Amino acid sequence: KATSSCSYAIFDQKQHRSDESQIAIEPELINAIRRNEFELFYQPRVDISSGKIIGAEGLIRWRHPEKGLIYPDAFIPTAERTGLIVPIGYWVIQQAGEDIQRLQASGLAIERLSINLSFRQFQDSYLCRTIQRLIEKYSIDTAILEFELTESALFNNELHVREGIEGLHKLGINFSLDDFGTGYSSFSLLQTLPISSLKIDRSFVSGVNQNPDDREIVKAIIRLARSLNKEVIAEGVETSQQLNFLARFGCHQAQGYLYSKPVSYDKFKVLLESGCQI
Ligand code: C2E
Ligand code: CA
Ligand code: CA
Ligand code: CA
Repeated sequence: KATSSCSYAIFDQKQHRSDESQIAIEPELINAIRRNEFELFYQPRVDISSGKIIGAEGLIRWRHPEKGLIYPDAFIPTAERTGLIVPIGYWVIQQAGEDIQRLQASGLAIERLSINLSFRQFQDSYLCRTIQRLIEKYSIDTAILEFELTESALFNNELHVREGIEGLHKLGINFSLDDFGTGYSSFSLLQTLPISSLKIDRSFVSGVNQNPDDREIVKAIIRLARSLNKEVIAEGVETSQQLNFLARFGCHQAQGYLYSKPVSYDKFKVLLESGCQI
């Protein structure tokens, strides 16, 4: 069991039989795991006050032999439905660990590396143990590692999800709430889970210079995070006007096309080497 994380795939035929488009992609996804067709891209996370890259979010891509680069929205939902997200999720963590190790070996330390975790991954009872093993294998400093969770994923509030989060938190891993403000239960999650940062959803950030409501929502999330002593990160920052607004109201970090799209490991390394200043 210890070595073959791929054997954890759970299939639920009934659940998606009616959806024709999902059926074709599933065997291809199994092949993709076997043939190692995934790539982990990195989008820089920038400290707003210094303008320096402090880390990145890892975002998966599928390098399909015929179809080219496939974005996660096209296959993550299927992977979640079929349980294939479990082995894929382990691949992501393992790749992130390997890349952190490679960066450190080149003298390029980063403070934060975040990874998206699907709620479905908590259904694997080996989650904590497997992640612990990967942490040991790649000597990952868990203070660097952060798992991004979406509110919708946590909404069902199942006990095994909470237990999984607590187990991983005991290993020293940080958690952030992704797409903050778009879910249903933000406040109770903040009250009861070990969340260390909030990511303001792009849908609010994109409106701060036109829409007074978006402005107030973004200000309120920043204020909330700061008063709870949490990090606050704005995602989808595309313009310097948006950045100025975020800086003015004390948002800690920004991520978005203004700085960089998600890029390959090699390109991310070049960005870090250029002195981290963007
Ligand atoms: P997310 O976690 O909300 O990730 C942010 C998405 O916004 C990324 O899309 C990113 O490329 C995009 N983005 C970043 N900055 C900007 C910007 O300035 N403007 C615009 N328009 N978009 C921006 P991507 O990489 O296609 O990922 C889509 C979603 O797929 C992610 O949303 C996440 O929910 C999921 N995902 C990606 N990688 C993984 C993974 O390894 N595991 C799991 N479970 N889900 C993943
Ligand atoms: Ca995310
Ligand atoms: Ca997000
Ligand atoms: Ca999202």
